[in-house]
Amino acid sequence: MREYAAIIVGGGASGLFCALRLAEAGVTDVLLLERNDRLGRKLSATGNGQGNVTNAHMGAEHYFTDAPDAVVSVLDRFGKDDLLRELTSLGGLFEADEVGRVYPTSRQAASVTDLLRFALEGRVEVRLGARVRSARRSGGKFFVQTEGEEFCARSLALACGGRAAPHFGTAGDGYALARAFGHTVTPLRPSLVQLKTEQARIRGLKGVRADCAVRIVGSPVCMRGDLLFTDYGVSGDAIFRISAFCGEGDVLSVDFLPGRAAGEVERLLRAKAARYPAMRKEDLLRGVVNSSVGKCLTKYSANADFSQFQAQNTAERGKIRKNMDDLARLAHSVKDFRLPVVGTLGFDYAQVTKGGVPLAEVDEGLMSLRADGLYLLGELLNVDGECGGYNLQWAFSCGAVAADAIAGREYAHR
Ligand SMILES: Cc1cc2nc3c(=O)[nH]c(=O)nc-3n(C[C@H](O)[C@H](O)[C@H](O)COP(=O)(O)OP(=O)(O)OC[C@H]3O[C@@H](n4cnc5c(N)ncnc54)[C@H](O)[C@@H]3O)c2cc1C
Repeated sequence: MREYAAIIVGGGASGLFCALRLAEAGVTDVLLLERNDRLGRKLSATGNGQGNVTNAHMGAEHYFTDAPDAVVSVLDRFGKDDLLRELTSLGGLFEADEVGRVYPTSRQAASVTDLLRFALEGRVEVRLGARVRSARRSGGKFFVQTEGEEFCARSLALACGGRAAPHFGTAGDGYALARAFGHTVTPLRPSLVQLKTEQARIRGLKGVRADCAVRIVGSPVCMRGDLLFTDYGVSGDAIFRISAFCGEGDVLSVDFLPGRAAGEVERLLRAKAARYPAMRKEDLLRGVVNSSVGKCLTKYSANADFSQFQAQNTAERGKIRKNMDDLARLAHSVKDFRLPVVGTLGFDYAQVTKGGVPLAEVDEGLMSLRADGLYLLGELLNVDGECGGYNLQWAFSCGAVAADAIAGREYAHR
C-alpha cells in the first residue's frame, strides 16, 4: 500500500488551506479525501454567497472556547494579514466593508474556493466522493478507511467540520473519528442560527422587519441590526449575531427605537394623546413603529409585568420608575419588548457548531495529545466565532498552523 506523507479528511476551508500550505512547503505527497462530489461546498455558500473570509477587527475576544490562549496562539501564528496576503498571492482581491467584514471584490464565495482549487491542481491528490468511515493508528502510521478503499499516511489531519448545515456534507463524522483516538467532545449546540421564541407574544408580526437593538436580559450583550419576525420566532442579522451568546431559557429585550431615548418616546405619546384624546393606543404608535408592531405592543403593554422589569433594569442600568400609567407602559414597551427564547432552529439552519474537541487535547501545532501525528482542525475543535468572518479565519488559520507542523515532521523524517 502506498504511504502518503499526510492524509487530510475534508476538503472544506481548513482542509483546502492545509493542503495548499503543505504543497507550498514542498510536501506534495498528500491525499485529500472529500465526501462530496466537489471541494469547498460550504465555503462556496458562505456570507450569503459572498464569502466573508475574515474581519478587519480580528482578535481572540470574538471567539468562544475552552482555551482562549490557544486561540491567540493560532491566530498569532497565522492571522488575518497572513490570510489576505496568501489569498492575494493566489490572484484574488479583498476588501473590508464599513463594519470590517472582508469579502473578495468579486463578492462570490465560490471564487475563494476556486483560488484554492486552482492552486492545488496537480500538487495534491484529491479524491472526491470519498467518505471516511474510520481511521486507526498502527505501527506509527495511520490507516484510513473509506467505503471502498484503505489509505495509509504518516500524518492524518481531520478537517471534517462540525455538525452545522449537514446538507453541505458536515454530519459530524469528525467527532466519531476523533473519539476513536481517545478524544472527548464537549456538548454540541447550533450557533449563528434563528431563534424560536414564545409564539403568542409575536402573533401578527410574521414578515415584519425592523431595525432594532436586541439585548439579552441579564447580560451586557446587545446587537443592533435587522430583526425579522417569522412564524417560529425571530431571524435577521441582529438575531444571527446574538444567537452566539444565548439559547433556550434566555429572554431578549427588543428596542424598536434604538436611536431615541425612552423619555422622548413617552413625551411624543403624551403630546399625541393630548391632541387626540379619543385615539386608540395602537394608533398613537402610528408613524412611530410598524403598525403591526404597534398593535402587538399595545396588547403587550397592557399585560406585561413591568414591576419585574423595573427591578431587573434597576440592577442592569440603574433606572427606577414607579407608578407607570398606560402611556408610560406603552413607551416602555417600544424600548423594552421582552421575548423569551424557547430554542433555536437547530443544526440544519445553523452556520456553526458550538462545542467540539477541547483545545486542551491538542498542542500548539494542533497535534493531538492522544495520538502522535494526528491533527485536528477548524470547526471540529471547541472554538466558534461571532458572525463576521471569524469562523472562516479560524478554519484557515488551523489549516496553516497544522500544515506547518506536519511539514516540520516531514522534514525531520527525510
Ligand atoms: C450558510 C453558511 C454561511 C456561512 N458564512 C460564513 C461567513 O460568511 N464567514 C465565516 O467566517 N463563516 C461562515 N460560515 C461558517 C464557516 O463556513 C465554517 O465555520 C467553516 O467552513 C468551517 O471550516 P472547516 O474546514 O472546519 O469545515 P467545513 O468547511 O465544513 O469542511 C468540512 C469538509 O469535510 C467534509 N467531510 C465531512 N465528513 C467527511 C468524511 N467522513 N469524509 C470525507 N469528507 C468529509 C465535508 O463534506 C466538508 O467539505 C458559514 C456557514 C454556513 C453553513
